[in-house]
Amino acid sequence: MSKYDYLVVGAGLYGAVFAQEAAKHGKSVLVIDRRPNIAGNVYTEDVEKIHVHKYGAHIFHTNDEKVWNYIQKFATFNRFTNSPVANFHGELYSLPFNMYTFNKMWGVVTPEEAAEKIEAQRREAGIKEPKNLEEQAISLVGTDIYEKLIKGYTEKQWGRPCTELPAFIIKRLPVRLTFDNNYFNALYQGIPVGGYTKMVANMLAGASVQSGEDFGTGAASVGTGSIEVHVGVDFFDAEGAPRKDLMELAGKVVYTGAIDAYFGYKLGYLEYRSVRFETELLDKPNFQGNAAVNYTDRETPWTRIIEHKWFEFGKDDEGNDIPKTVISREFSSEWKPGDEPYYPVNDEKNGNLYAEYKKLADAESGVIFGGRLGEYKYYDMDKVIASALDMCEKELG
Ligand code: UDP
Repeated sequence: MSKYDYLVVGAGLYGAVFAQEAAKHGKSVLVIDRRPNIAGNVYTEDVEKIHVHKYGAHIFHTNDEKVWNYIQKFATFNRFTNSPVANFHGELYSLPFNMYTFNKMWGVVTPEEAAEKIEAQRREAGIKEPKNLEEQAISLVGTDIYEKLIKGYTEKQWGRPCTELPAFIIKRLPVRLTFDNNYFNALYQGIPVGGYTKMVANMLAGASVQSGEDFGTGAASVGTGSIEVHVGVDFFDAEGAPRKDLMELAGKVVYTGAIDAYFGYKLGYLEYRSVRFETELLDKPNFQGNAAVNYTDRETPWTRIIEHKWFEFGKDDEGNDIPKTVISREFSSEWKPGDEPYYPVNDEKNGNLYAEYKKLADAESGVIFGGRLGEYKYYDMDKVIASALDMCEKELG
């Protein structure tokens, strides 16, 4: 007899949603994570009362009513709206591409003038059907904006020329002929008050987070089900194979790590981009006046600087002004074994390799693969939650 109904590998969003839902259905769930903390890449760490997004900025946004209603059960969201600033060699532009950007770039004043300018540049480039990110970008916003605000940033972030990247990546960004610099076309947006770690802890039903493998202690009850959380537990053995002893603890496994890692990379490596953060605590109240400043030129080595306090308006949880500030410079690099994978590189080559891994995953009885890494998809948080909820419906009824 297995000790638990489910073993969830990875205490990020996908794993936390699954654990919550399974426990509500009366199941016993053991959640493990390799890191010393829960919450995966949405983890926030408190520094001088600032919730620092340790694995990169996360701004929750969605058009999915079901996901929005769901997530409200675990956190109150503030009214943060993402409006990053682009810094091109010291020239500042409003993002995403909107009338403020077009005015600064070309001096145009009306939406008609902006549209004409974009159309003229698109015609000159002679692009009929965009086949890659460069062509897609130029046909959306013209060559000037492509050169100053897209090319350098994208090539730094992805480490590949824009002509070799899929067009869909740039379609994530809105282009607007209005003075609206909300980065997302989402009905709902915000940051969980108190940080993401607290939100994920609530999803895990407040189970005490234990270090190590002393399984069988500290479970939180959810109705007739339960959740138990152990961090600092590596699912893989020294040879890089899934640990049999852990798998045998449960009837079924929900695995949210990298799909190629699960199979010991036996079909080859899927490509990911990794990110390195240089985080500093500064003895001043305001460094850049905005949560995100993107450095869109090719020469600045970092892609962006995040000033974490502005996700929460520079206030602590009691509403007091915070006299210090924490900033993180982000450096993008090609993932290699041992690094943290962040962004799947969803081009054709990797798509084909993923399809082969997916066949292996489908044939792996008793294991469900999910999340950004388990499904090898450039998912936003809301899509991860939606995917987890869909899977819960199939799995739990
Ligand atoms: N992008 C850009 N310039 C910017 C910001 C984004 O060219 O100043 C492009 C870039 O190709 C990037 C893509 O838009 O990979 C998606 O950006 P997003 O902000 O959605 O990326 P994330 O927040 O997931 O890192």
